[in-house]
Amino acid sequence: MKSEKNKSRIVPRRIPVPEQEPRKRRGNFEEVSRGFTPELAVKEAERCLQCKNPGCVRGCPVNVPIPGFIKLVREGDFEGAIGLIREKNVLPAVCGRVCPQEEQCEKLCILGKKHEPVGIGRLERFAADWERRQCSVNVPPVPAPSGKRVAVVGSGPSGLTCAYDLAKLGHKVVIYEALHEAGGVLFYGIPEFRLPKNIVTCEIEVLKKMGVEIVRNAVIGKLMTVGELMDEYSACYIATGAGLPRFLNIEGENLNGVYSANEFLTRTNLMKAYDFPRHDTPVIRGRRVAVIGGGNVAMDSVRTALRLGAEEAMIVYRRSEAEMPARREEIHHAREEGVRFEFLTNPVRIIGEKGWVKEMECVRMELTEPDESGRRRPVAREGSGFRIRTDVVIVAVGTGANPLIPRSTGDLALSERGYIAVEEETGRTSREGVFAGGDIVTGSATVISAMGAGRKAARAIHEYLNEPSCGQAGKREK
Ligand code: FAD
Ligand code: SF4
Repeated sequence: MKSEKNKSRIVPRRIPVPEQEPRKRRGNFEEVSRGFTPELAVKEAERCLQCKNPGCVRGCPVNVPIPGFIKLVREGDFEGAIGLIREKNVLPAVCGRVCPQEEQCEKLCILGKKHEPVGIGRLERFAADWERRQCSVNVPPVPAPSGKRVAVVGSGPSGLTCAYDLAKLGHKVVIYEALHEAGGVLFYGIPEFRLPKNIVTCEIEVLKKMGVEIVRNAVIGKLMTVGELMDEYSACYIATGAGLPRFLNIEGENLNGVYSANEFLTRTNLMKAYDFPRHDTPVIRGRRVAVIGGGNVAMDSVRTALRLGAEEAMIVYRRSEAEMPARREEIHHAREEGVRFEFLTNPVRIIGEKGWVKEMECVRMELTEPDESGRRRPVAREGSGFRIRTDVVIVAVGTGANPLIPRSTGDLALSERGYIAVEEETGRTSREGVFAGGDIVTGSATVISAMGAGRKAARAIHEYLNEPSCGQAGKREK
C-alpha cells in the first residue's frame, strides 16, 4: 500500500530548464541555459526518491552527498544545500554546468532505471547560483597554519581542488599558472555560452579568501624548474593539463585560416577576439567554417564560429553520430543552432588559394564490424572523394601532454604516451615530494575526474608532509 502511494507520486519526466531561444542565442555569447528558478528546483528535487543506498553518490568522483543536498533543496533550505555540496566540491557552479552527469551520478540514479534520472547537475548549479546571487559565497574555515608550504603548478580544476583541500588542512599553498588568468580549460577553453567566466572567477575567489596565493604569468620549466620549487616548498603538485594540440598531418594544414581548436578558443574566449579591435587579439571570422572532430572541444569550436558570424558552420567527423564523444546535450544544442553535421567523413587535404584556405578534400568512410575491443574502425570508401567549400578549418582531434615540465624535471618517469607516470591511489611520481594528477596524467578527460585526482593527491600530500623524510627532497635532488 505504502509503495503504491510512493509510486503514484513519481514524476517520470524531468522538469525542463528554461533556455535561450536557438535563433537568438546563435548570435550572442550569453549562456544557453538560464537555470532553474527556486520553484522549478523544488519541483525537480521532489522527484528524488531519497534512496537508502543511492547509486548517484557512487557515480560522483568527489562523493558529493547528493540525496542530502537534494532533500535540503526540496525543503527550500538552499543555503544548507550549497553548504553541504561545498564540503566535497570546490567548484559546484562549474560542475553543475559542464560535468557529464549522464555518464556519472545521473547514470547510476535509481529513478533512472525506469524513468528519467533526477537532474542532479541542474540542481547543483541552482544551489551554487542561488548562493552567488545572495552575494554570500561560503568560505570554509581554515585551521591554524601547519607551517608546511606546497606549490601547485597549473590552476585548472585539478590544481584548484588540490589547493582547496590542502588549505582546509592548514597548509600554505601557492599556485603557479602560466597564463594571465587562472582556471585552466574552464577559463581559456570552455566558451562563455556554456560557462561564464565570472562564475569561474567567483569560485576561485573562495580559494583566495582561504589564503591560497595564485602567481600568474609563471611558466614553470622556464621561470623556475620543479627542482627549484622543491627547494622552497615541502611538496609540489603538477596539474598542467594536456593542452598541446594534435594535428592531422595532411597537406595544406599550414595555410592561413587553419587553427587548432585550442588556439581558436583561447583567442576567442580568453583574449576576447570576438570583441576585436576593442580587444587586442584578432581571429579570422570565416563565412564557412569546418570543424574536424566529434568531442566537446569540436562542439565548442563550431558553436563559437557560429556566434562569430559564420553563415555555415559544420562538424566533419570520421565516425557516425553514435560514436561521438561529445555530450548529447551539446550535440542537441548545436543542432538546434543550425550546425551542419558531416558524419563518416574524413579530410585528406586542405586546398588553398594565395596562401588562404579555400576548400577541403574529403573521403566518405564506413565502419568495420566491431573488433575484439568492440570498437568499429572507420575505413575510407574507395572513389568517394569530394570537396567542401570552406574558408576556416578548425582542427579538434585531441591534445597531448606539453613536454616542458617533463623535459625540465630530472628523474620524472613518464608513461608510453608521454604523460606523467604516477601511483594511482596517491598521485605520487617517481620523484620524492612531487605529485601529479588530472589531464597531465590521464590525457584529456573530464573536469570532475581532474578534480578527483586533485583530491586524492591532497590526501597523499598531507600524509607525506607528516613523514620524517619530508622536506629533504629538494635538498637531495636538483
Ligand atoms: P587544465 O584545465 O588544462 O589546466 C592546466 C593549467 O595548467 C592551465 O591553466 C595551464 O595554463 C597551466 N599550465 C600548463 N603548463 C604550465 C606550466 N609549465 N607552468 C604553469 N602552468 C602551466 N570536461 C568536462 O567534464 N565537461 C566539458 O564539458 C568539457 N568541455 C571541454 C571543452 C574544451 C574546449 C576543452 C579543451 C576541454 C573540455 N573538457 C570538458 C575537459 C576538461 O576541461 C579537462 O579534462 C580539465 O580541465 C582538466 O583539468 P586539469 O586541471 O588537469 O588541466
Ligand atoms: Fe535521488 Fe537518484 Fe540519488 Fe536515488 S539515486 S537518491 S533517486 S538522485
